[in-house]
Amino acid sequence: MRCRAERDGDEYVLNGSKYWITNAGVSDTYTVFASTEPSAKSHGITCFLVEKEWGVQFPKHEDKLGLRASPTGEVVFNNVRVPLSHRIGEEGEGFRIALHTLDRSRPTIGAQAVGISQAAIDYAAGYMTQRKAFGAPIAQLQGLRFMLADMAIRTEASRALVYAACATIDAGDPDHQLNYLGAAAKSFASDTAMSVTTDAVQLLGGYGFTKDFPVERYMRDAKITQIYEGTNQVQRVVVAKHLLK
Ligand SMILES: Cc1cc2nc3c(=O)[nH]c(=O)nc-3n(C[C@H](O)[C@H](O)[C@H](O)COP(=O)(O)OP(=O)(O)OC[C@H]3O[C@@H](n4cnc5c(N)ncnc54)[C@H](O)[C@@H]3O)c2cc1C
Repeated sequence: MRCRAERDGDEYVLNGSKYWITNAGVSDTYTVFASTEPSAKSHGITCFLVEKEWGVQFPKHEDKLGLRASPTGEVVFNNVRVPLSHRIGEEGEGFRIALHTLDRSRPTIGAQAVGISQAAIDYAAGYMTQRKAFGAPIAQLQGLRFMLADMAIRTEASRALVYAACATIDAGDPDHQLNYLGAAAKSFASDTAMSVTTDAVQLLGGYGFTKDFPVERYMRDAKITQIYEGTNQVQRVVVAKHLLK
């Protein structure tokens, strides 16, 4: 982490930039992690709440494959002054706050993935009853019925895992399982969304590949759930670390 926050009386002076920030330029406030003591590495990170109107800059927005209704861009701090009152927690607590937050936000990406999967299933099932090939609805073809059934089975399993992770949050994580369950829920639900939406495109045939039908967008939107809030490779690092600790 190269973003720096240096104390100056009752303020911190923030310098550096962040990439891939959701709602960059749209949000009025930003949660920013910056190094207050670089030599302490992860123990020298501090969290701040920064107001857009304090001079935050947004020089670039990404042109993305999916999630196109949600802007993503670069956020730049050039001598942005942050009052002490806007420090979240104590100096050096930032890394702990970030991990605590990720444990609670990862299941929400799982929930997003479940929603995308369900939308793809609903649309594909409806299409299968309408579209006729060789004189009968394609819904009568057993090969396609099995595809649809597998899509639903994997989605129900994803939903159950996401609910389990969210219930663990509600319960206050008494057995310290959230880190593991959140990573498992996020990775399984997002891998499921990618395969389910790809199959939904297949079930619509040529029309599935066009922008006249929504399933190609579901497929493009599913991809990001395997990447952000920690890639699914990183989720597997988290899961394995829990099992082998
Ligand atoms: C649309 C979008 C919105 C985003 N919104 C935000 C946001 O609001 N705030 C924010 O802070 N970030 C945000 N991000 C950033 C996002 O969380 C990161 O892009 C993501 O965590 C992956 O990090 P990276 O891009 O640096 O990939 P890299 O770390 O460069 O990964 C490259 C490849 O290496 C693999 N890899 C890396 N490390 C390991 C490892 N230890 N073990 C095995 N494989 C590994 C990855 O899985 C991947 O396949 C957003 C990203 C996107 C695309």
